[in-house]
Amino acid sequence: MSVKIVSRNFETPNADKIDVYESLGGYKSLEKLFAMKPDDVIEFVKKSGLRGRGGAGFSTGMKWSFVPKNVDKPKYLCVNADEGEPGTFKDRKILQLDPHQMIEGVIICCYAVGIKTAYVYIRGEYVKPQAHLHSAIAEAYKKGYLGKNIKGSGFDLDIHIHRGAGAYICGEETGLIESLEGKKGMPRSKPPYPAVIGVFGCPTVVNNVETLATLPWIMNNGSEAYAGFGTEKSTGTMLFSISGSVERPGVYESPFGVNLWDFIESSTGGVRGGRALKAVIPGGSSAAILTAEETRATNLDYESIAAAGSMVGSGAIMVLSEDDSIVKALQVIARFYSHESCGQCPQCREGTYYISEIMDRVLAGDGKPGDIERILEMCPSMLGQTVCVLADSIAIPAKSYIDKFRPEFESCIKGAAATA
Ligand code: SF4
Repeated sequence: MSVKIVSRNFETPNADKIDVYESLGGYKSLEKLFAMKPDDVIEFVKKSGLRGRGGAGFSTGMKWSFVPKNVDKPKYLCVNADEGEPGTFKDRKILQLDPHQMIEGVIICCYAVGIKTAYVYIRGEYVKPQAHLHSAIAEAYKKGYLGKNIKGSGFDLDIHIHRGAGAYICGEETGLIESLEGKKGMPRSKPPYPAVIGVFGCPTVVNNVETLATLPWIMNNGSEAYAGFGTEKSTGTMLFSISGSVERPGVYESPFGVNLWDFIESSTGGVRGGRALKAVIPGGSSAAILTAEETRATNLDYESIAAAGSMVGSGAIMVLSEDDSIVKALQVIARFYSHESCGQCPQCREGTYYISEIMDRVLAGDGKPGDIERILEMCPSMLGQTVCVLADSIAIPAKSYIDKFRPEFESCIKGAAATA
């Protein structure tokens, strides 16, 4: 079933320009929004079942409700546009092709929570999306959708853009907050959570680009209409960045609950060159891998993918064919996480380096008996032991790649031993 909610304007020329966006019904949700009480907006979003699309999949309305109401400090929204999970490129599409949809969502969120200042933390490499977003914000100010007394509602809101400097860990919400404050992007221990003590020590909502961009449709069409798509617990639709060995890589939207392989095949044309499917990484590089059989037997929703031992994560689906090396795939992500560790937790700093070093040696033809065991022994000390989940992000895939494709690792190491 093809359903387009967030991507509905992607094919419309110049949908990033405010006149075109308005002609498509853009900013219409604000009339309904300003007629509602802020608490009712939070309940409305809760009822839709919308969950954060950045990776954690937590209830959006619930997250907003954790922000204390009667505080004498300002509250802030940080829009997480630091899309850095390898394989993920869906938010870039929104920012470039339909940025007003996200701005409208920012207004909805800020009105509901009582926020007057929002920051969009965008990854530095996103030069074009940042330019499109910058123009869209300027247009929105000009038309009275941002600034003082928006459309006579008495509600004020300013949006600022902050460009990141290319660190993956600034996509973690407290790393993002530290960076926004002008410090090193090092994640904070939690609690306290950002809802209570966030940016500049004030209550803060951190929401992903796609999460916010979904809100105008929900406001216009109703919570029930949104919850009518997907499954009972995974409601609505999500954008998926599909890459790897497929005929047509790209960003595709789907309601939750469809069969994972049917969705990949029907969207992308299947495995490139008619080769056999070997495996799928369903939720970004930090997700556990699924074999071809598991992929065909699994539905695409938070609960089904978790039951299969992996996660929806940021919606980055990476497809591996019979020609792709699982050993090489682990080397690539091990190098990435080793490079991106902020270094404050020993298990992460040393563990990511250690796994990366072993994988480099194995791929260089210098693997040694016991290398697989050394990686597997390292993993438990990296799971759930650190300030953020970056250490888990290599331990989980490493264990799953080895558990499911051990003969590939063994033959790589044996090959090295035979030629030594
Ligand atoms: Fe930094 Fe890694 Fe610790 Fe996260 S787990 S805080 S990235 S050292």
